Amino acid sequence: MSDIFDVVIIGSGPAGLTAGVYTSRGNATTLLLGGSKWGGQLMFTSTVDNFPGFPEGVMGPDLMVRLKDQAVRFGVDFRPLDVTGVNFQKSPFEITAGSETFLGKTVIVATGAETVWLDAPGVSQFIGRGISSCAPCDAPFFRDKKVAVVGGGDSAMEEALYLIKYAKEVFVIHRRDTFRASKIMIDKVLNNPKIKVMWNTEILGVSGQETVNGLKLKNNKTQNIKEEAFDGLFVAIGHKPMSDLFKGRLETDEKGFLLPKQKVPGVFIAGDVHDRIYKQAVTAAGFGCMAAMDALTFLG
Ligand code: NAP
Repeated sequence: MSDIFDVVIIGSGPAGLTAGVYTSRGNATTLLLGGSKWGGQLMFTSTVDNFPGFPEGVMGPDLMVRLKDQAVRFGVDFRPLDVTGVNFQKSPFEITAGSETFLGKTVIVATGAETVWLDAPGVSQFIGRGISSCAPCDAPFFRDKKVAVVGGGDSAMEEALYLIKYAKEVFVIHRRDTFRASKIMIDKVLNNPKIKVMWNTEILGVSGQETVNGLKLKNNKTQNIKEEAFDGLFVAIGHKPMSDLFKGRLETDEKGFLLPKQKVPGVFIAGDVHDRIYKQAVTAAGFGCMAAMDALTFLG
């Protein structure tokens, strides 16, 4: 058992780390359990152009290292451990990470969201062998190759624009005839002569040997089905909240997003694990600040 921390933060994306900056500066002893793959989704992003204060943009992982350093500078006890259990019925709360149990008077849940994979035959088989959800991580493996990106949101646009620096051709495959991404991103994609769009197209399956070599595609307007050769597929169809750990302990909506205000006194929620609308680094940071201030008020 640990000492009793004033605040235990679970999660180390912009929400969790910003919460840590605020609670530690607020003189609350703060433990941040960041996960073995700490840093959240920005660790898989290239340039972030819309985080205030970086007129030239900042690389996602650099931003997260800076945020972590900032939190640690004010005294956050940062540990890259995966939380495996929580007990909100005890006071102080118990938070377990493997064989260690930590105690907190308050808990801030900032566990974020994770990739949703396409539900089609072959997808799970080829993840990491031609299927990825992270162009900044994997694009160099597709130099001079023909790759597809599935999705019509900002993530899909971002993946396509990153991939085209390496790939010979990039096809954005989208199930409708309009993108939901922001106009600036759509324009960049549509104006890039090396990026082509397959509208009204669904992926029915992924084929390959060692790695991906083809996709089975269906045009949902004409019902035409074809096999086409591709060397890779980047999946960008959204994210799901990382709330499984809290099932039955905290309240969620029908999609598993934690409700922002919980009935358990002393438990606060921040960032993409509760935010199904904005999902931005800057909003996650803002929610982290709010949760921290609520925790400080609760501690008195
Ligand atoms: P998103 O906006 O929810 O878009 C998901 C896309 O995937 C949609 O176009 C959707 O199609 C498609 N899709 C969902 N399920 C599918 C399925 N089973 N099969 C085929 N297609 C499927 O998700 P996102 O692009 O990850 O973006 C999430 C949020 O983060 C957004 O608010 C976005 O603005 C933000 N974001 C911002 C930046 C940036 O500012 N730099 C970068 C990335 C993300 P439909 O359109 O038909 O529903």
